[in-house]
Amino acid sequence: MEKVADRIARLSTSATLAMAQKSRELKAQGLDVISLSVGEPDFDTPDFIKEAAKKAIDDNFSHYSPVPGYPVLRQAIVKKLKKDNGLDYAEDQIIVSNGAKHSLANILQAVVNPGDEVIVPAPFWVSYIELVKLAEGENVIISAGVESDFKITPEQLEAAITPKTRAFLFSSPSNPTGSVYTKEELQALVDVFAKYPDIIIISDEIYEYITYGVDHVSIAQFPEVHDRVVVVNGVSKAYAMTGYRIGYMAAPLWIAKACNKLQGQYTSGANSVAQIASTEAINSDNSEVKRMVVQFNKRRDLVLDMMADIPGIKTCTPPGAFYVFPDVSSYFGKSNGETVIKDANELCLFLLEKKLIACVSGEAFGSPECIRLSYAASEEQLIEAIKRLKDGLAMLK
Ligand code: PMP
Ligand code: GLU
Repeated sequence: MEKVADRIARLSTSATLAMAQKSRELKAQGLDVISLSVGEPDFDTPDFIKEAAKKAIDDNFSHYSPVPGYPVLRQAIVKKLKKDNGLDYAEDQIIVSNGAKHSLANILQAVVNPGDEVIVPAPFWVSYIELVKLAEGENVIISAGVESDFKITPEQLEAAITPKTRAFLFSSPSNPTGSVYTKEELQALVDVFAKYPDIIIISDEIYEYITYGVDHVSIAQFPEVHDRVVVVNGVSKAYAMTGYRIGYMAAPLWIAKACNKLQGQYTSGANSVAQIASTEAINSDNSEVKRMVVQFNKRRDLVLDMMADIPGIKTCTPPGAFYVFPDVSSYFGKSNGETVIKDANELCLFLLEKKLIACVSGEAFGSPECIRLSYAASEEQLIEAIKRLKDGLAMLK
C-alpha cells in the first residue's frame, strides 16, 4: 500500500536543500556548524522591496493573479529584458512562476516528450537532471573539468547531438562553478545550433547580475537562435528574495502558451504579494544589487586567496555567481587513520562531522571530483570555514 509512484521513486532528493537541512538540524542541536551549502544570498531583502510587499497587502493584493502574472510585473520584465539585454519580447511571451525552478519545470514539461534527449553540460545545477527525468526525458551529459574553466566546447556539443535531441539546458553564470560563457564562446555554440534548427535552448540566467569584471551575455541575443531560446530568470539571487518565490521565463509564444496552460492546472498564478514586491525590485535602479556584488567579489577573493594555501586542491577563478567548485580528487583514497575517504560525498560528510563545515558534494552536480562551497556568508564565517577546510584536509594522509 505504501508505495510511491515510480516517478517519485526514481527522483533524487535535492542535494543542496538536503545539506542545508542537515546543517540546520546540527545547529539546532547547539553545534557550531558553518554552512556553505545552500546557494542563497545571506543579505536581507532590501527595505524598499519589503515596503512594496507590505503595501501590496494593505492594497488588497490578496486575490488570484492572472495565471501568467500581473500585467504590471510582466511589463516590468519586458522593459528589463530590453534595457539589460537588448531583447524584444511582448508581454504574452512572459510567464511568471513560483521561482525559476518552477519556470524550468514548466518548460521541460511543455516541450519534452518521453524519450526525448536533453543535453546538459556538467557541472550542472542539481535540479536540471531531475526535472528532465520528471518530464520523462533522457539526460545526455557532456562534461567539462576545472582545466577548461568548466565550460564545454562546440565539438563536445556537436558530438552529443542526435536525431532525438530536443533541448539544451545550461546556466551562465553557472551554478555550481561560477563560470561565465563569453560572447565568443556562445557564438561558437550558436554556430553549432544553427545547423540543428529543432533544438530548443533553455538559458538559465538567474545569476545574471552577479559577475565580477565580465559581461553577462544572453544566448537569446544571437539572431540565429533567438526564436528558440527560452530565457529563465528571477528575483531570488539578484534581490535576495529567495523566499518570495518569483521566477519567470521569456519564451517563444508557443512555449509561453503551453506553460500558461500547464500552470493554470498545476499551481495558478504565483503569490500576489510577492509579484508586486518583485515588480518594485525589477523596476529599481539595481543599486542594492551592485552593493551586494561588491561584497560577493571581496568574499570570492578572500576565499580564493585562502584556498591557494591548501595543498592538493585545484580551482579556477570564477567570474560569476557565489560559488567555488574546487577539484578535491587528490584527497580520495586518503585516510585520517579511521576512515578512508573514497569520494566527494564521504569527504563532505567527513568535513561536516570532524570540522563542522557544510559543503555540497560535486556528485549531485555531475562532477564527483569536486565539492561546492557557497561564499554567500560573512567574511568572518568564511575565514573560519576555510581554516576548518584546511585543517580537515590536513588530517587526511
Ligand atoms: N537556477 C539556478 C542555476 C539556481 O542556482 C537556482 C537556485 N535556487 C535556481 C535556478 C532556482 O531559483 P528560484 O527557484 O529560487 O528562483
Ligand atoms: N539554487 C540554490 C543552490 O543551489 C538553492 C537550493 C535549491 O534551490 O536547490 O543551493
